[in-house]
Amino acid sequence: MSISKKNVVVIGSGFAGLSAATHLAHAGYQVTLLEKNDTPGGRARQFESEGFVFDMGPSWYWMPDVFETYFGYFGKKVSDYYDLKRLSPSYTVVFGENDFMEIPANLEEFKGLLESLEPGVGPKLDEFLKQAAYKYKVGIEDLVYKPSRSLTEFTSPKLLIDVVRMDVFQSMSKHVRKFFKHEKIIRLMEFPVLFLGGTADNIPALYSLMNYADIALGTWYPMGGMFKIVEGMISLAEEKGVKFRLGAEVDHINVTNGIARNVVLKNGEKIETDILVAGADYHHVESVLLAPEYRNYDANYWDKRVMAPSSLLFYLGVDKKIENVTHHCLFFDEQMGPHADAIYTHPRWPERPLFYLSAASKTDPSVAPEGMENLVILIPLAPDLEDGEEVREKYYHMVMDRLEKLTGQEIRSHVIYKRSYAHSDFKADYHAFKGNAYGLANTLLQTAILKPSLKNKKVKNLYYTGQLTVPGPGVPPSLISGHVVAREVVKENKL
Ligand SMILES: Cc1cc2nc3c(=O)[nH]c(=O)nc-3n(C[C@H](O)[C@H](O)[C@H](O)COP(=O)(O)OP(=O)(O)OC[C@H]3O[C@@H](n4cnc5c(N)ncnc54)[C@H](O)[C@@H]3O)c2cc1C
Repeated sequence: MSISKKNVVVIGSGFAGLSAATHLAHAGYQVTLLEKNDTPGGRARQFESEGFVFDMGPSWYWMPDVFETYFGYFGKKVSDYYDLKRLSPSYTVVFGENDFMEIPANLEEFKGLLESLEPGVGPKLDEFLKQAAYKYKVGIEDLVYKPSRSLTEFTSPKLLIDVVRMDVFQSMSKHVRKFFKHEKIIRLMEFPVLFLGGTADNIPALYSLMNYADIALGTWYPMGGMFKIVEGMISLAEEKGVKFRLGAEVDHINVTNGIARNVVLKNGEKIETDILVAGADYHHVESVLLAPEYRNYDANYWDKRVMAPSSLLFYLGVDKKIENVTHHCLFFDEQMGPHADAIYTHPRWPERPLFYLSAASKTDPSVAPEGMENLVILIPLAPDLEDGEEVREKYYHMVMDRLEKLTGQEIRSHVIYKRSYAHSDFKADYHAFKGNAYGLANTLLQTAILKPSLKNKKVKNLYYTGQLTVPGPGVPPSLISGHVVAREVVKENKL
């Protein structure tokens, strides 16, 4: 299709929508971005209360090269927009009382730590990382940039050989056990795939590339918070001419003769467009904004998807400094199996959940008043659970009991600000399918061409981007998703 006009409407100001809008404006299109909320950033929004500044969603900055590539594409650098610090230690794993493991940022120190647990493991780690580095290189430089619209994209002889080398058909769990025996090392190596919305049993070993990201590339933090990435992206988007409309919720998309002609906002305003890129949750766009005859997938399809977890979060302001925690702490003092069962197999509130604690004020004094601490607690949960006040409180006290006991101090009585956030908030704020926090799990059957397609098959000028389509969940993949869809738009809608 070749069209003379060049208006693009992008729905959603998450990382994917921002990335798509900026790439398209850079390519010469007139881009308007519509966001339902009054603040931009989607799941990465930030809020401030009583001197505490909370990042609402992502807190781990991994794969710094992807961000550098993003800004580099426009002739910019990350350092033009924010001040990035590498964390050391990268994070802490709490295995039990007096059983804390700080993960060194330095590779040799990391190897030393593993050797102290499993003597002789050094060369195995080297080999594991060598394979992970290869997967990272092929994965991030090539595979994730494929629009995955046809199998033929994956049939080059080199890629077929790579698919074998890249362990697409083996689980992470089996892969890790080929190299390591010590239970703690196994848990350490299996943890990064949690970011992909699955467990080591159902995520392909291709994703040991995440271990390379973790161990070799490191854990970083933009001073001022993860929202600095959003601010940087907005500033670049505006420089390219993207027009932002906040508080502009799309109510429906009007399609005639297989072409999306306009979107209608909740207030009745109609916005004409030549091309539409939907960066809101895919399921919402398909099942609410589009009439049934134009949908790629039906309700049955969506019900069969393996969603990444939802979460119960607590944003806490504490009126003193907390001991024995670092910026990122993973509380693995309970078994993963029963918690995973409660997320994926028999969805329910878990009996003894694992949880994650972020204490950004350990690195960044700007996110809490002096002498105080900014804490965010995250408990991963099955999507679509009832999340009333009573159950939230129950889990607040359950994790607080453990946090206080394991770190040896009173915290609850020092909490001067508290806000909880769970399924119903994800639904209300982002139209999240089943209240998911980070999209669709990257299982083998939901990878590449098996993901919801980035193009609508019945509406010629409607494209999708974001964590429910290719390449998957997470901040770096969402940036890439915006780039990939913009390339498809440019290819099919020449100016
Ligand atoms: C609690 C949490 C922790 C996470 N931790 C990490 C982490 O540490 N590291 C990491 O890399 N990733 C993390 N992630 C994942 C990462 O944040 C997401 O993958 C990414 O932000 C998704 O971006 P997106 O653009 O696809 O979607 P979103 O950010 O959800 O953007 C979609 C936007 O569309 C808007 N919208 C919806 N409906 C409409 C409508 N009808 N009209 C107009 N606008 C609409 C929404 O308001 C939203 O702003 C985390 C996610 C969560 C929730």
